[in-house]
This record gives sequence, structure tokens and C-alpha cells, in this order.
Amino acid sequence: MKSTFFFLTSLILLCNVTAQRASAPPLLIIQNIQVVDVKKGALLKDTKDIYIRGNRITGIATHANRYPKPDTKVIDGSGKYIIPGLWDMHAHPDDPEMWRMPPDAASRDLLLPLFVLYGVTGIRDMAGSMETIKAWKTNIKKKELLGPEVFACGPLLDGPNPMWDGSVGIASLDKVRIVVDSLKATGADFLKVYSLLPDSTYFELSRYAKSIHFPFVGHVPFTVTTVEASITGMKSQEHLLNLLIDCSTVADQIYNNTLDYGDITDALDKYIFRNNLIMDTYDPQKAKAIFKVFVQNKTWHTPTISMWYKNAYFEEEVKKDSIYYPYLPQYMRKYWQPEVNDHLQRRSPEIIDLKKRLVSRYLQVINKMNEAGVKLLAGTDMGANPLCFPGISLHNELALLVEAGLTPAEALKTATINPALFLEVEKDYGTVTKGKVADLVILDENPLEDITNTRKIFAVVRNGEVLSAESIKAELKAIEYIQADPKD
Ligand SMILES: [Zn+2]
Repeated sequence: MKSTFFFLTSLILLCNVTAQRASAPPLLIIQNIQVVDVKKGALLKDTKDIYIRGNRITGIATHANRYPKPDTKVIDGSGKYIIPGLWDMHAHPDDPEMWRMPPDAASRDLLLPLFVLYGVTGIRDMAGSMETIKAWKTNIKKKELLGPEVFACGPLLDGPNPMWDGSVGIASLDKVRIVVDSLKATGADFLKVYSLLPDSTYFELSRYAKSIHFPFVGHVPFTVTTVEASITGMKSQEHLLNLLIDCSTVADQIYNNTLDYGDITDALDKYIFRNNLIMDTYDPQKAKAIFKVFVQNKTWHTPTISMWYKNAYFEEEVKKDSIYYPYLPQYMRKYWQPEVNDHLQRRSPEIIDLKKRLVSRYLQVINKMNEAGVKLLAGTDMGANPLCFPGISLHNELALLVEAGLTPAEALKTATINPALFLEVEKDYGTVTKGKVADLVILDENPLEDITNTRKIFAVVRNGEVLSAESIKAELKAIEYIQADPKD
């Protein structure tokens, strides 16, 4: 009963947005607001009045006391700041890793509003079924589901024995074209290659995808270096995989499997030894040369440092993050428990210590990459990874990028203009500019002074529809009630 009642309440809330639109005034004005120019990393001179009609920004003018027509909706932006809607460039709202739980589709779909309610108006979906993704896109477009703009790759492309459910295992070189063509035909926006792809298959895939101008991104496979992936045109590299190996002086020994482990025989001990050695043999000159290759080839990087951080500090962070659990579907809460989660196995004090040191090293490397001009994207890996919540994690990612050494303005770019440039949709997204889609976040305080101010959301505008702080609260409450009730 409870769940049905609140589901209806929620539907009414969600429909209100639609109903308001049907009878809504044609013009919305956000008055007297400070606009954050994310390209310049500065506020625009003078406060502005922003005009929105339908789902587009139709004008931006220096603020003046005007008397809008009675049917115009006005938001008083005095003392507030406006930024472009944020993008999570590595998200898994239907993570195949969790299909074993199995997900309840209705509660899973309620992960999508959470992005928008926390100011994330666009995502790059990094693995899943194209059917589910298409259904989301349709329902979001029809305003039956509150959700972000979605760009997606569909299933992961992995080796003959894929790591996760739902992946396409490419068994031989002659299958590469068939797989790429069929994925393109299903409407995928790009391809995502995965860790177990043999190097020969990867190289064949990169050649073919390049020849048909179809972008591919992903995990640099275990047997491929980050430089090889960059040269062969991988458009974005995820999670900084293989990067510390490549920056070390023992890289060749690791790829050739000739590393001398002394008398260590246990696999886990070898893992610890190898990673310590990689960090100890980090060569700044080698790193510099690698970053240069990334810049030359326009290779983007999505560090997902908040994922690495939440994993390393899980025991401390799980307590702090308990406030967000009520918004999660039951199957996800279950999968995030240490007893069942694949990412939380074998947590000896030694392993936890190693993971924390790896995070520190990643933070230093991110800073060096940024200084070298490597292009960065904000991504969270939300999904199967514990404590990587939809929406809120993006704010964690931005804060960690600043901790790494980026300025708040540089961090903000990784979630606004950079995603738009990467996805080649700059004419519609990425800045607060006349003519672009009205995906916007109004903040109570200046994010250029303190990046954690991105959490102080006064309102979200998604595709021209306004969600006030009160309606955000009400939506969250409705989601909490639906997700509280375990399905029988
Ligand atoms: Zn991922």
C-alpha cells in the first residue's frame, strides 16, 4: 500500500512539472544573477537577466529593472550564481555488474531523477543494454521520467571470456567488424573497449573504428599501453588504468611478465609488491613524455578519482554517506555490502594501506596531467562501485579534482564545457549562452571561490523546466518512500 501510494504521489509531483509546462507562460526570466563563464573561469561582468523560452536560452542581457508581462515566470537570482548543467562522464545507472542481484526495473529507473536533482543534467552511460537506454531516452524526452541527457555505448566489448554479464566477447579478429557494425546499427553513440580484450583484437578494432569514424573509448586493455591506446585513437581513457605502470621504469618487465618477485609466491602478495614497485619506480620524465603524447593525440582522461577514493576509504566513508542510502534501490544497497561486492574483497590492512597510497599518487598524477595540458573529464563510475551515488558523486569528483591541484574553475570545466567538447555538442551544451539548451544549475554561493558550493543548489533547470529547492526536496522524499519498501 505504502509503496503504491507514494509512487502515485511521486508521479503527481513528476507530472506537475509536465502539467505546469502545458499551461506555463511562454517565457521564463532568471533575473539579476551572476553568470559563471566556465570557459574563462570567471564571473561575467554585471548581473544578468537570462531569458528562456521552451527548452532554450533565448537571450542574456545585463540586468535592468524591467516589468515583465504578467504571464512571464520570474526567478529572482539576486545573490545567486548560475552554471551550466553538470555532466557525469562515466556513469552506470544500469550496471551489468549488478544484473546478478537482479535489479528491479522500476526502482532502478528512479536512479535517473537523482542525477538531475543534484544538478547533473547529462551523463555518458558507460555500459548496459541499448534497449534499456533507448527506453530511458524516450521516456525522458516524453517527460514521463525525470532524467539527464544520455549518451551511451551499449554493451562492453571484451575478450572471448568477458569479465561481466551483458558484454560482447570478441572471440576472433574476423568478428571485429561484425560487432562494431551491429553496435553502430543499434544506435550506440560510441564504443567502449574493456580490460580483457587481447591486444591484437584491440588494434584491429581501433583500425576499423577509425576507418568508419566511429569513436571508441574505454579501459586501456591489460596488454596495451596508454601510449599505444592514445596513438591508435582511443578518444578517452578511463580510471587512469595502466598509467602508473607506463610511468614506471619497470613497465617493460610488467608487460613481458618478467618481473622478479624474489621468493614471493602468493598472488595477493605479488599484487602488493608490484604496485609498491610501480610507485617507487615512477619516472617523472617518462610521465612527461606520455602526457605529451596524450596532448598531441587529443586523448581525454576520465580519472574517476572519487571511485578510487571511496573504495580506498570505504570503512570511514560508508558512515558519512549513510544519509544517501535511502534514495537507492534495495538491490543496489545489497550489492554495495562488503560481503557480496566484488570491489570490496580481500581488504587486509596492507591492501587498504596500498589503496590509500595509490589514491595519493593518482591525485599527484592528475595534477601533473592537468599542468601538462591533458584534457580531463569528470566521471564517477556510479553503479556497482560502493558509495558512488548518482548525482552526489559528481560533486565528490569535483572536490577531489581540486584537492589534486586543479583550480575550482578548472574542475568546473571537466563537468561542463569539456563534456560538451568531447561529445561534440558544444552548440547545445556546456556554457550559459544564448541559443543553447536550458540545462542550468542555480547556486546559493560562488563555485569559483569554493568548489563545494556546487552542492548548494537553489534550483535546477532541466530542458527549460525549473525544479526549485522545495520541489527537489519533495522529489527526494518521494524517491525515499518508494525505495524504502522492499518488493515482495
Ligand atoms: Zn565504469
